[in-house]
Amino acid sequence: RPTASVLVTGSELLTGLVADANGPFVSRALGDLGFEVRRVLLVGDRPEDLRSGLEFVAGDDLVVTTGGLGPTADDLTAEIVAEFCDAPMEVDTALQGRIHAKVAGWVARTGWDGPALDDSIAKQARVPRGASVLEPVGTAPGLAVARAGGPLVVVLPGPPRELTGMWPAALASPPVAALLARTPRAEPILLRFAGLPESEIAATLRDIERELDTSRVEVTTCLRRSELEVDLHPLPGAEDTARELSGRIVDAHRRRLISDDGRSTDELLAGALLASGRTVATGESCTGGLLAGRLIDRAGSSAYVAGGVVAYSNEAKSALLGVDPALIAEHGAVSPEVARALADGARERFGADIGVGVTGVAGPGGGTEAKPVGYVCFCVTTADGQVLARDPQLPGGRADVRERSVDLAMHLLLR
Ligand code: ATP
Ligand code: MG
Repeated sequence: RPTASVLVTGSELLTGLVADANGPFVSRALGDLGFEVRRVLLVGDRPEDLRSGLEFVAGDDLVVTTGGLGPTADDLTAEIVAEFCDAPMEVDTALQGRIHAKVAGWVARTGWDGPALDDSIAKQARVPRGASVLEPVGTAPGLAVARAGGPLVVVLPGPPRELTGMWPAALASPPVAALLARTPRAEPILLRFAGLPESEIAATLRDIERELDTSRVEVTTCLRRSELEVDLHPLPGAEDTARELSGRIVDAHRRRLISDDGRSTDELLAGALLASGRTVATGESCTGGLLAGRLIDRAGSSAYVAGGVVAYSNEAKSALLGVDPALIAEHGAVSPEVARALADGARERFGADIGVGVTGVAGPGGGTEAKPVGYVCFCVTTADGQVLARDPQLPGGRADVRERSVDLAMHLLLR
């Protein structure tokens, strides 16, 4: 399998001022395209940082750099890559014309009357001889240029929006397309489970490995709060093994399976609600609107989200969602009974088909022996009288408890 590395540049990333978004995007995309991703390197902006970074990954078949393509003097990636590939820099006059037209349009729209931009345009139109030019998304072109006897280097801009915008063009550029054509690719499989501990998957994998040779399938597990992702990347020719492995993992944990085709909880829930034509309303206490926010995050959610109420105080629970004060007095605000009343109240107030109520002890204070921090009550009720309730003990601090509560409510809604 061809190997690839990602060279992320930018001093603001080294200091932690900005969190790297490009390394994960590119490495994941390359892995899915069949490359063996060897390294994601993060280096500063100085020429020697870039040079040593490039030398470090010079043994790979493909190197993708991000950042340092801007018009200012500290943006040096194109020059350093040209030097690395032993290609002189030349002005691409056609490209210069296109950048010029783009900037002129921008100047006309914004009424810019600052210093002339000709120098920076001229800088960005300088490209290594023989490079494939990737059309700018902003004003900086990307590049694909090969080092004789070394890697193909793809040079992309730093701003994540520009980088992702240019990615399809990078893959379609002739040298990258040629490399992709020589890269055998096996379809990865992504399994998603709710509330499955990593140790259980590890045990399942050990059991399966006794009967099935899985050495040609790379298995990565990733715990994201209350969901566990299992990523199966078969080496070329091992697709059948990956499918077999996937089937056995699913059989062992079917009860906790969210999806075996990579689809997210949010996507599945939206699909199910749209298909059934039903609407949801939320009555939230400890999650404080996070659940409603999560539901509304998706475009098109107006088709299935009726609305939500944050009823944090006891008074608000009664005044806004009709929770009987006597119920709160008898069972406590954090109780399965009140979760159900919140769900019913929200459903009725909004005239929705499904109501979901969440009330819990997020902490750090407020816990008791009977109801410690992390004790959260959930209830989903429907207009036709179905009730689904849970009251688990969730781990972690305040933020964890609240975020996990949202996950759990989503999982409950999905059932
Ligand atoms: P520009 O023309 O904006 O200077 P550039 O290609 O030179 O583009 P950089 O100077 O490296 O890009 O980065 C510009 C800004 O884009 C950074 O200040 C940062 O906010 C963002 N950025 C760059 N690289 C990354 C990254 N790897 N992850 C997240 N954000 C990034
Ligand atoms: Mg820059």
